[in-house]
Amino acid sequence: MEKHLQHHIFKVLANIAAKHNIEAYVVGGYVRDIFLQRPSKDIDVVVLGNGIDFAELVGNQLKTKVAVFKNFGTAMLKYQDLEIEFVGARKESYRADSRKPIVENGTIKDDQLRRDFTINALAISLNKANYAALVDPFEGQLDLENKLIRTPLDPEITFSDDPLRMMRAIRFATQLNFSIDTSALAAISRQKERINIVSKERITDELNKIILAPQPSIGFKYLFDTGLLQLIFPQMANLYGVEIINGKGHKDNFYHTLQVLDNICSTTDDLWLRWAAILHDIAKPATKRFEDGHGWTFHGHEDKGARMVPQIFAQLKLPLNEKMKYVQKLVQLHLRPIVLAQEVVTDSAVRRLLFDAGEDIESLMQLCNADVTTKNEYKVKKYRNNFELVKQKLKDVEERDKIRNWQPPITGNDIMNIFGLGAGREVGIIKNAIREAILEGEINNSYEEALKFMLLKAKDLGLKPVE
Ligand code: ATP
Repeated sequence: MEKHLQHHIFKVLANIAAKHNIEAYVVGGYVRDIFLQRPSKDIDVVVLGNGIDFAELVGNQLKTKVAVFKNFGTAMLKYQDLEIEFVGARKESYRADSRKPIVENGTIKDDQLRRDFTINALAISLNKANYAALVDPFEGQLDLENKLIRTPLDPEITFSDDPLRMMRAIRFATQLNFSIDTSALAAISRQKERINIVSKERITDELNKIILAPQPSIGFKYLFDTGLLQLIFPQMANLYGVEIINGKGHKDNFYHTLQVLDNICSTTDDLWLRWAAILHDIAKPATKRFEDGHGWTFHGHEDKGARMVPQIFAQLKLPLNEKMKYVQKLVQLHLRPIVLAQEVVTDSAVRRLLFDAGEDIESLMQLCNADVTTKNEYKVKKYRNNFELVKQKLKDVEERDKIRNWQPPITGNDIMNIFGLGAGREVGIIKNAIREAILEGEINNSYEEALKFMLLKAKDLGLKPVE
């Protein structure tokens, strides 16, 4: 392993350990990432003894400030572009009602045993006797080769001790495209209710990491199959299933949503656009009807879905800010380009879509493209071609009419000044009429035409401009 300890910091750590007769190891994610060929800047060092004291010795030698977290028994320092964390080897035992363990000093093996997965329990020695040797008592290296998430301890104990690890298992499996060992998976199913003692923020952190992986469906299938999804995000689990009436079924909206999510992940890394994919059909179960002669319908699922977004964001402790508004808007509008693509595309329909989507028109088109999940090649081609037409039309209309981020040329203030009005109903009526006339293409998007139109409109309302 010595070639993996090229950075001179490792020699510095080893020399201090030797001088003070302290055993030290590099451990955890840094070692795992060596095998995965993902160079990392975060180094975790475990020492037998006091981690904070060792960190102070290193800090002195490197003339670097050490941040001490007394309550956790850890210390951290920054050196060049590295972040190095120090901790004493620990042995942990847990009580049933808390994620907080009782901690005692332990051996390196005790410390490895308390880690979540074998692939995260690898250590490299910084000691003279076996410098750079891999210390792998739980066959983590083999599990990396076999692409397997396995726990060093009995998984029942691992997950019950700290239920966040259930989310972490699924997160690592998704990020790395690994499978979860069958007994670990069974243990997650059995221990799932324990997730309730984990804070919503930490659950959502892991969920977002799953969503940011190249193929998030891997994680969501695990979450669903173990029963965790039903607990942490029941609205999404509700998408599962097919109902059949009079021999007619509808598509399974859970698997459809996962397909849309995977599709959009090949075109964007944006967390919120990925969330829009997750939520685009979230109201389908609530709006599902079987109509004689028609079959299954989900009328209004886009409106209801948009209304569900704030509540879901609040429940998951996602930010209730412009990111939420963006997701909400995409859910609300997600059918519009499809409707456009099915009809003769009129300029006014395109102007309306541009006006409603504004800056987010590209995201919306991305979502709609991802939403095409039919297996029928002919239909896929037809939809995609139609989207291309819609896109071209969007471009033409935008170039001509500049509707995106557009404000009608006459403002409410202008209207009040021209007619000597206070704020009130009439101002709104006139403003709307101008906007509609422009969007419908009755008049051009210019101040002069809008003024002419407004004066006519105002006459109908019995209003006259003040002299
Ligand atoms: P990433 O940076 O992708 O999150 P990581 O493994 O470096 O991966 P950290 O959360 O920084 O993640 O954890 C560092 C190490 O601490 C892990 O490799 C693991 O050994 C251990 N660890 C972290 N969280 C837990 C936990 N909940 N239970 C047991 N061990 C854990």
